[in-house]
Amino acid sequence: MSDRPAVDAIGTAVYTVPTDAPEADGTLAWDKTTLVLVTARSGTTTGLGYTYAPAVTAHLVRELLAGTVTGLPAYDVPRANELMSRAVRNAGLPGLAAQAIAAVDIALWDLKARLLGLPLVHLLGAARTDVPVYGSGGFTTYDAGRQERQLRGWAEDQGIPRVKIKIGESWGTRQDRDLERVARARAAIGDAAELYVDANGGYTGGQAVRVAGALADQGVTWFEEPVSSDHLTVLAGIRDRIPLDVAAGEYGYTLPYFEHMLAAGAVDCLQADVTRCGGITVWLRAAGLAHARGTDISGHCAPHAHAHAAAAVPNLRHLEWFHDHVRIEHLLFDGVLDPAGGSVTPGADGAPGLGLTLAEERAAPYRTG
Ligand SMILES: [Mg+2]
Repeated sequence: MSDRPAVDAIGTAVYTVPTDAPEADGTLAWDKTTLVLVTARSGTTTGLGYTYAPAVTAHLVRELLAGTVTGLPAYDVPRANELMSRAVRNAGLPGLAAQAIAAVDIALWDLKARLLGLPLVHLLGAARTDVPVYGSGGFTTYDAGRQERQLRGWAEDQGIPRVKIKIGESWGTRQDRDLERVARARAAIGDAAELYVDANGGYTGGQAVRVAGALADQGVTWFEEPVSSDHLTVLAGIRDRIPLDVAAGEYGYTLPYFEHMLAAGAVDCLQADVTRCGGITVWLRAAGLAHARGTDISGHCAPHAHAHAAAAVPNLRHLEWFHDHVRIEHLLFDGVLDPAGGSVTPGADGAPGLGLTLAEERAAPYRTG
């Protein structure tokens, strides 16, 4: 039909935001975070999407993807996603190219929902109204006071009944401090709240099993990446031996990655990151793979990029309300969600698309590309 809108232009912008304190997990440290913003315009309507990735990702969008997507029917987002995936064949899809595709895909979904005047969750079709979130931070760089303030902020001030801290400090060489911090975390949030840990692949397999015993004593129920998520048989072996749920999947850039992880029996809950895995289009398919196996999915980081898609899947466990990204999304965008009580309700205000608007004045000082 000739009156269907087309994608007229793809744009990019890069924002780099220093952390509010030094941040590290078990296997990486950082002092700033870069958000690559993508805009997709059709006529006078513009959608936005983003990924947390190096600035070069914006270059990939402009060089490899913009020409592929421009001129396509704006409603045909899965078609655009497929053509983008094919266009990066020789660049290599897993990694930065998948993150570039994700940002464009999210922008295209936002654009389509805006063209139709719908919150994105209504375009996708809701499977639920509330989307549970968990407070995530507890960096290994925090001292006891900072960790306690952060955890109490979620559990008490905001009423979020589940939180996660980082362990596996310095590649698993600070195991005693890990367990001290877990004990302090439990003391800070009380017995009722769920306590999760993420080792970011910092432990060995045997070490992870031994640590899990001590974690279980503190009522920890979620053990994320006890070892590298590359090692599916080791993850599956750990999962067989411990009472905690094993979670992984944040480095999934393609649909087959998630299928391999699920087929290996490596996880109790699949994680997938909409800003890495190729966007909302692929995230929904990953959720379907997990659903077919009776497994939940959890959205990794970038909570405002996930929320509407998360509300559209029946097997959602929760979204990660990640300190670093929550702070950046509040800084750069208007229309952010309120997690008070432990869940968000995307689309409740009726705003079209993701419901986000770039806060140009607040964002301008952080623009780096
Ligand atoms: Mg993680």
